[in-house]
Amino acid sequence: MILILGGTAEAHALALELKTPFIVSISGATRRPKNREYPIRSGGFGGVDGLVEYLQHNEIKAIIDCTHPFAEQISHNAVKAARATKTPLLRLDRPAWPSRPNWQKAVSLGAAAAALPPKSRAFLTVGSQHLAAFCKRNDVWFLIRSIEPVIAFPNAKTHLQRPPFSLEEEMTLMRLNRITHLVTKNAGGSQTVAKLDAAEALEIPVIMVNRPQLPLAETVRNRQDALQWIRQNVEQKGIS
Ligand code: NAP
Repeated sequence: MILILGGTAEAHALALELKTPFIVSISGATRRPKNREYPIRSGGFGGVDGLVEYLQHNEIKAIIDCTHPFAEQISHNAVKAARATKTPLLRLDRPAWPSRPNWQKAVSLGAAAAALPPKSRAFLTVGSQHLAAFCKRNDVWFLIRSIEPVIAFPNAKTHLQRPPFSLEEEMTLMRLNRITHLVTKNAGGSQTVAKLDAAEALEIPVIMVNRPQLPLAETVRNRQDALQWIRQNVEQKGIS
C-alpha cells in the first residue's frame, strides 16, 4: 500500500487517478473535511517514531508527500521515517508562483508582519495557525481569511471561506474591505491564485512569504510525473 501525505488539492487529484492500493493521510486540523470516496486516515502519527511504526505496521511500500509547501514538519518527518525504514519517498511539490512587480518578498511571517506600514488594511491569507506574528500589529487592520474559525484579535475581521476563489470574488472582497495590502505565502497552484490577479488589477502591494527550505528528497512538479514514478517504483516492481 502507498501512503499519500495529503491535505491538498494535489493529493486529492492524485488519489482519484491512482490504481495501486493507497491511503491518504490528513492532519485532522480541518474539523469538517470533505467527504472522499477513497481510504483516508486522520491525525498526526506521533512524530518520526510514530510514522516509522505506521509504515512498518501497515506495510507501506512508498510514501508520496503531497503536503502543502509550507507544511514543513511533516515533510521533515517523512524524509527521516523513509530513511529509517528504507521506504521509497517522492515529494510532489507544485511550482511556486512567479514573482510579480507588485510583490515585496518576506523571509518569514514575522518579516511579513513587520513590513506592513502603520494604518494599513491588510488581507491576511496565511492560514489560521499562523496569525501570532500579526496580532502584535495593533496599528494595522486585518481581514483574515480562513477555512476554520480563528480567535481573531480586536483589530481584525474573519472571513470564512474555502478555496477555490474566483477573480471576481477576490476583487469584491478587497474593494469592500478597502484593502491596502495583501499578505500571503507562496503556496503556488491554481486554487488560490486569483487573489494575486485581483491585487495586481487593483494595484494593491503584495507581501509574499517565501517558501521554507525542505530536506532533500526526490521531487516531481506535477501529478503525471508522480503517477509515472509510482508505475516505475511500485507497480512495475510488483511491490504494492
Ligand atoms: P506541519 O506543521 O508540517 O505538521 C505539524 C504536524 O501535523 C506534523 O508533525 C504531524 O503530526 C501532523 N501532520 C501534518 N500533516 C499531516 C498529514 N498529512 N497526515 C498526518 N499528520 C499530519 O503541517 P501544517 O502546516 O500544520 O499543515 C497540516 C496539514 O494541512 C498538512 O496536511 C498540509 O498539507 C495541510 N495544509 C497546510 C497549509 C499550510 O499553509 N501550512 C495549507 C493548506 C493545507 P505528527 O508529528 O504527530 O505526525
